[in-house]
Amino acid sequence: MTTTGDLILVLDAGTTSTRAMALGLDGAMLAVAQQELTQYYPQPGWVEHDAGEIWERTLACMRAVVEQLGGAARIACIGITNQRETVVAWDRASGQPLHHALVWQDRRTADFCADLKNQGQEPVVQAATGLLLDPYFSATKMRWLIDNVPEAASAAQRGQLALGTVEDWLVFNLTGGAHLTDASNASRTLLLALDGATWDAGLCDLIGVPRAALGEVVDNAGQFGVTRPDLLGRAVPITGLAGDQQSATVGQGCLSPGETKATYGTGAFVLANMGSALPRSGNRLLGTVLCQLGGQRSYALEGSVFVAGSLIKWLRDSLGLIASAGESEALARSVSDSGGVVIVPALSGLGAPHWRPEARGVITGLTFATTRAHLARAALEAMAMQTADLARAFAADGAEWTSLKIDGGMSANDWMAQDLADVLQVPVERPHFVETTALGAAMLASVGAGLFGSLEQAAGAMRGAVQQFAPGAAVDKARRAGWDRALAAV
Ligand code: ADP
Repeated sequence: MTTTGDLILVLDAGTTSTRAMALGLDGAMLAVAQQELTQYYPQPGWVEHDAGEIWERTLACMRAVVEQLGGAARIACIGITNQRETVVAWDRASGQPLHHALVWQDRRTADFCADLKNQGQEPVVQAATGLLLDPYFSATKMRWLIDNVPEAASAAQRGQLALGTVEDWLVFNLTGGAHLTDASNASRTLLLALDGATWDAGLCDLIGVPRAALGEVVDNAGQFGVTRPDLLGRAVPITGLAGDQQSATVGQGCLSPGETKATYGTGAFVLANMGSALPRSGNRLLGTVLCQLGGQRSYALEGSVFVAGSLIKWLRDSLGLIASAGESEALARSVSDSGGVVIVPALSGLGAPHWRPEARGVITGLTFATTRAHLARAALEAMAMQTADLARAFAADGAEWTSLKIDGGMSANDWMAQDLADVLQVPVERPHFVETTALGAAMLASVGAGLFGSLEQAAGAMRGAVQQFAPGAAVDKARRAGWDRALAAV
């Protein structure tokens, strides 16, 4: 189908909210609409979304953007990016969800994962998928739905069960029936081998997920179907799909091996482009598909820190130490160091490269001279120290960082950006337009629609100016030693 229009409609179905945005071919954002998503916590450790609500609110945002634009005529194509690993089960015939979506944070399958680990399956799964046997990933959630939701089991028997991640669910609803998932999202399920073109039969059997319920694995850019004409007033092609972190990596222009980005939001997600080399970690980093174009894959190594901006939010909301997240910057600057205070923010366990979910946070070095400024500074210093621990793991896995591209709400903090450069001793780069997740989906969709010939061309046209933070004097060894001591106490 020929493409008309000069705008890209991006749908970003996140964890706490869903958004629609219209971006121009120069990357400028011309319209945006956002709606919150209801979070359900039926039991401790369980986290659910209403899949019907995800669809309805995404559609409402799309329609709001189209209204702001005065119609859908200028929309050339749609790109979708989404919270990864979250699982929806639906009936293909009725199109109805069979249960709430199980969200990536949901821990209900911890025992099942432990059983598989006890059977010695983790090395097998890790070698094939690049992932670990953790409830975080999609497949054990799919198995739980089949075991615990009678409607899902009976739909499976009738051959009508569909299991998929959120982009799949949105494509199904947008097109009125397509069931497909892109390689970046599929690589977070535990059911796709890193070098396998499609679902791995052995992994599906091991975890107990029927292959027939899964969608087709497709590229990140291409012609994936058109929207039902009644939704936006005309049929619009869907041409880009990617998981949110992969999308942000593309949006940051990390298109060559070695280029690395870190997103500082609630937590922090670091991905390094590994090119076509299969990512193998000896340091409990994850190997994942970064992007698949024309059937050719590039891969990424990924490490995440559980607590980043949420530490600042905790200082603000639970301790009342600061009035706003932004105040942490002025406070950190008001003192010359943290006065010996070290915060290890393991408030919800430690992520990569430690993977200690049972760990709890500590604050060390308190004296009567400690002020809230020292605590704010220690909180921000912890971001660079956690990132430095990740950098060491990446380097040990053969992915040394030569620079770091940052984004996310917390990256607005100039003091933290400079501290990162000083601690890591590499240049840190922050784009003026920090919506890199949306930008990546727009870049992919524009390539899928043929508006640009390659991602490099799309990046050249759509990525705007960046601000550089050059590394200054290296931080003193005492700070590193203090961090290591506090970490050992955790
Ligand atoms: P998410 O996408 O995970 O919801 P965002 O990317 O919107 O998160 O980032 C919000 C987080 O960043 C909050 O936890 C907030 O505390 C933190 N944050 C926002 N601005 C600043 C700032 N100037 N300094 C430090 N932290 C900040």
